[in-house]
Amino acid sequence: MKRYSGEKISFKSVNFSYTDNVNILRDFSLNIPIGSATVLMGSSGSGKSTIVDLLMGLYKPNSGIITIGSDNLQDVSIQSWRKCIGYVSQDVFLFHSSIKDNICMGVKDIDFDYLRYICKLVELDEFIMNSLEGYNTVVGDRGATLSGGQRQRVSIARALIKNPDILILDEATSALDKKIASKVVENIIKCMSGKTVIVVTHREDVLKHADYIYNLEDGMPTKML
Ligand code: ADP
Ligand code: MG
Repeated sequence: MKRYSGEKISFKSVNFSYTDNVNILRDFSLNIPIGSATVLMGSSGSGKSTIVDLLMGLYKPNSGIITIGSDNLQDVSIQSWRKCIGYVSQDVFLFHSSIKDNICMGVKDIDFDYLRYICKLVELDEFIMNSLEGYNTVVGDRGATLSGGQRQRVSIARALIKNPDILILDEATSALDKKIASKVVENIIKCMSGKTVIVVTHREDVLKHADYIYNLEDGMPTKML
């Protein structure tokens, strides 16, 4: 199975609409180099999540192409492509089990030190270690015993623990306060060094950690950095 770890991602003149008459992306072109942290900004409804969904292969462009290295995404095995990607959305799904199970979901034999390392990156280890049963503490229905920001950090840890080649955070730090969001993004970008990180946000506090910044407006990206 081909691993798409070291390939440039390009959108080339992509047009996309969900319904017949409303174009969300018009002649949209963007290069995301490998091994860099790219931030996508833009107001709500500007099409940021649509770009992510197209990149994940959830939708196909009406015209134009998305390439991964020299391959057209449409010709790439979606399974092998998604295996390379750690994806975190704004919506978090936690289940009634331990913090450890919620993070390691679907990944077997996680070394405890590695789990703690990941949780330190998302500034969660101290809180977990101070919880009554540490990493075995049960989070309640849909993570009810955790704050919104803690739930989001569990969700980011869940993506990181799979050691993805590409990490996509779509408004995944929206519930974190400014200082923690900034620290978490900084830690993540450091640990993903040499890999590709795409951060979708409308918050300015993560910008200082980015290699490239694009602002999306009317379906067009403007390069800010
Ligand atoms: P952002 O993530 O920047 O807030 P989105 O990509 O979610 O923006 O949405 C861009 C536009 O596409 C919005 O106008 C939104 O209403 C519309 N849209 C998003 N998802 C769908 C969908 N599944 N069906 C129809 N329209 C959608
Ligand atoms: Mg969105």
